[in-house]
Amino acid sequence: MTEERRVARVKHVLILGAGFGGLELAGRLSDSVADEVRVTLIDQNDGFTFGFSKLDIVFGGSDASAVQLQYRDLAKPGVEFRQERVTAIGPAARHVTTDRGSYDADVLVVALGAEYDLEATPGFAEGGLEYYSIAGAERMRDALPEFSGGTILIGVLAQPYKCPPAPFEGAFLLHDQLVERGIREQTEIRIVAPMSAPVPVTPEVSQRFLDELAARGIEYTAQQTVVELDPAAKEAVLETGERLPYDLFVGIPIHRVPAVVRKSGLADGGWVTVDRDNLMTPFPDVYAVGDVVDLPMAKAGVFAENAAGVVADDIIARIHGQTVGRRYEGEGNCYIEFGSGRVAKVQANFLGGPSPRATVVGPSAELAAEKAAFAPARRARWFGDASA
Ligand SMILES: Cc1cc2nc3c(=O)[nH]c(=O)nc-3n(C[C@H](O)[C@H](O)[C@H](O)COP(=O)(O)OP(=O)(O)OC[C@H]3O[C@@H](n4cnc5c(N)ncnc54)[C@H](O)[C@@H]3O)c2cc1C
Repeated sequence: MTEERRVARVKHVLILGAGFGGLELAGRLSDSVADEVRVTLIDQNDGFTFGFSKLDIVFGGSDASAVQLQYRDLAKPGVEFRQERVTAIGPAARHVTTDRGSYDADVLVVALGAEYDLEATPGFAEGGLEYYSIAGAERMRDALPEFSGGTILIGVLAQPYKCPPAPFEGAFLLHDQLVERGIREQTEIRIVAPMSAPVPVTPEVSQRFLDELAARGIEYTAQQTVVELDPAAKEAVLETGERLPYDLFVGIPIHRVPAVVRKSGLADGGWVTVDRDNLMTPFPDVYAVGDVVDLPMAKAGVFAENAAGVVADDIIARIHGQTVGRRYEGEGNCYIEFGSGRVAKVQANFLGGPSPRATVVGPSAELAAEKAAFAPARRARWFGDASA
C-alpha cells in the first residue's frame, strides 16, 4: 500500500479527557492498532492523579506533585497529548473546539469525568473541608493538626459521587489518625448521607461497612442530606431543617457533568446517555466512558477502565468491518482502606446480570500488595517505556 493510501485509511480518534478512562483507551488503541489510528488525547491539566492518592495526601504524608503522573512522560506510539481546555463539543459533526484550536474526528470519545459544585451547598466552600480535589486534600491535610477534639461531621452532599467507599475510607483513616494523636476519645465522628446504607450495591457490602463503622464507634445517619452550612454557628443544616453542630465538617461535594458536556447536548438527562452495550452515544461514532456517563452503577476509575476496554474493542472491530462479541458489564475491583494498613477489595459487576453483584474480599496483606502494584502497572501501560 502506498504511504498516501495508508494515511487516508488511518482514523483520527479524538479523546477528550486524559483521566482513568481516556488514558486506558489511548493505551489500548496504541497497543493494538497504532498503525490504523491516530489518537489525539486532550486534557486541561499537565498530569493525572489517581483518586486514591488524595487519601495518601491527607493521611499518608504524600506530596501532591509526587503522586501525579506527568503527561509529558506519555510515550505511546500513535498517541499525541495536547494540554488544552475543551470549550465546545459538536457531537453531530464530531467537531471540538479548545482554547487553542479545533479538531475534527472520525471517532470522538468523551471522557471528561465529573465536576464538583461546591457553591451548590451554601457555606461549604468557606466553612467545610473536602478531599475530592487535590487542593482540597492539601487543605484538609494542613487543617487536621489544628483539630483538638469535638465533633467531626462527614456529609455526603448528593448522589452520585465518585468511588462509593471513599467517604467511609476517609472516616476509617481519620479514626486511625485521631487514635494515634490520642484524641479519639474526645472526638465524635458522625456520617450523614442520602443513601439508605453505606455502599448500597448489595446489602452484604453495606453491612460490612456498617460493621466496620460500628467497630470504631462511628455513627451512620442514613437518608439525610446536609444542604447548607452555617460556618459562624458551626452548624450543618439538613433538608428537614434540623441543625447539627460540628467542630469540623468534611463534605463529599455535589458532582455534576462538566459544563462543556452539558452545553453539547450530550447530557440531556444530567449525565451522558449511552448504549449500555458498547457505550456509543446517540450520535454515530461518538462514545462516552467513565464518570461522565449515565448508567445505573457506581462512578469509579476501575469502571472507567473497564468501559475504555469495551470502547477500544468496539472501535477496532468497526475499523475492521466487524462486530464485537462482548458487552459492557460495569465490572471492576475497588480497593478499600480499612485503616491500620488493612486493604480489602470490593469485586463488583453492575450490569452483567439482572441486578448488581458485589462481594468484599479481605482485608489481607496480599490485597495491600495488590493495591500497591495497581498504580505502577497503570503508569507503565498508559505511559509506555519512558515512564519506567
Ligand atoms: C478520594 C477518592 C478516592 C477514589 N478512590 C478510587 C479507587 O480506589 N478506585 C477507583 O477505581 N476509583 C477511585 N476514585 C474515583 C476515580 O478517581 C474516578 O472515578 C475516575 O478518575 C474517573 O475516571 P474518568 O476517566 O471518568 O474521569 P477523570 O479521571 O476524572 O478524568 C477526566 C479528565 O477530564 C479532564 N477535563 C475535564 N474537563 C475538561 C475540559 N473542559 N477540557 C480538558 N480537559 C478536561 C480532567 O482534567 C480530567 O483529567 C476515587 C476518587 C476520589 C475522589
